[in-house]
Amino acid sequence: MGKITKTNKSFAAGDLLMKEGDRGQSAYIIESGEVEILVDRGMNKLRIGTRGPGAMVGEMAMIDDQPRTATVRAMQDCEVIEITRDDFEGWVNGADPIFKMIMHVILTRYRDMLSRSFFSSASKSAAEMVEKENDLHESALRTIKMKEELKKAIGNDLTLYYQPIIDIQNKKVAGFEALMRWIHPEKGMISPGAFIPVAEQSGLIVEMSNWALDEAAKTSHKFNDAINPNLKGSHPLYISVNFSVRDFSSLKFFSNVKNTLEKSGTPFDNIHLEITESLLVEQPDIAREALAQCQENGLSISIDDFGTGYSSLSYLHSFPIDTLKIDQSFIRSMRDKPGNLALVKSIVGLAENLNMTVIAEGIEHKEEATILKNMNCDKCQGYWFAKPMPEKDALEFLKTWHIPDY
Ligand code: C2E
Ligand code: CA
Ligand code: CA
Repeated sequence: MGKITKTNKSFAAGDLLMKEGDRGQSAYIIESGEVEILVDRGMNKLRIGTRGPGAMVGEMAMIDDQPRTATVRAMQDCEVIEITRDDFEGWVNGADPIFKMIMHVILTRYRDMLSRSFFSSASKSAAEMVEKENDLHESALRTIKMKEELKKAIGNDLTLYYQPIIDIQNKKVAGFEALMRWIHPEKGMISPGAFIPVAEQSGLIVEMSNWALDEAAKTSHKFNDAINPNLKGSHPLYISVNFSVRDFSSLKFFSNVKNTLEKSGTPFDNIHLEITESLLVEQPDIAREALAQCQENGLSISIDDFGTGYSSLSYLHSFPIDTLKIDQSFIRSMRDKPGNLALVKSIVGLAENLNMTVIAEGIEHKEEATILKNMNCDKCQGYWFAKPMPEKDALEFLKTWHIPDY
């Protein structure tokens, strides 16, 4: 097998490693320093990416004997290893025939993909398509890394924050929503918006939801023991736990929930389940059965972010749903946009007609609380009442909270 001869080269900051349009004779592996990748845009050069140690630049033109599709300039002094076409060809020619065939197939597919991307997106150059590819690889790599870290975090660095849900008519605390937080040992607090999608995509969410349910169940006992009688309504305080579509892919959804709650001796009405409309639309049969079992056993079911999803009302009465949670985007714009105020009113009316409870999310101002109270909305949740907080602060809240005026 031919051996790659490596030549070490240095470039000073500002030097060009290669120029768009030139014929490519070599590729470079960056050992130190950073380079930028530029494409011509008329008079200007557009920077489409940067590369640092370990990255390779210029491999396409080296393999293809085609003009360079981008200019590469050193942003700092750089040390690189140069690989010439002769080196590369000598290596491939001397290689095992099976390896040669695999290389050939990969290269043909790569070229084909690039030319197709090129024609389907006429304004993008081949270099930009490669850049896009590179971004995809980087984000895939980040996802893989996050998934591995997340796996270790379950039971260690994951925690639940609790946000109160207030009965707006009688000014009592009805319950809390459990919201996941990841306290990363180096990066600090990571919000669920960043890690729940990775958890859902990788399937880790099932284990995480189960952990959250177990945790919330145990906490619900502490909350019911701690509450100041002045804040207590006629029902036990509940904790609402979020579930994803993926949680329902196992036919054992209900039996898992049941086992978890029974293990900690938690009454079923201490827990509410929050799901989104997407579950009902994507897996209507599985959802209908699982939710019916839940409801028959005393677990309440809320539809989260109501109004943002499929806006088809036809499914509502065919599922065992107890509560609609109006999405915070409608509440936020209710005072400026009469259309959204009307929409909130009609959701409150709809819930009343269907005998469901309605919760408004995202209350940040006293005026919003007043409007919702006068509209006969049942419950509210939002920063104006309290932000999500750790268990110990929520216990304190239950002892000391003063009913605000609205
Ligand atoms: P969500 O279920 O709609 O939760 C409400 C989100 O609104 C929370 O964000 C909460 O902190 C935020 N919020 C509450 N009141 C206000 C307010 O007055 N103003 C504003 N601007 N925001 C408010 P968070 O905790 O970042 O959670 C984001 C989303 O992540 C949740 O949206 C939910 O979809 C998902 N999530 C959180 N925890 C879990 C979990 O345990 N399981 C699953 N499957 N998803 C979760
Ligand atoms: Ca929710
Ligand atoms: Ca929500």
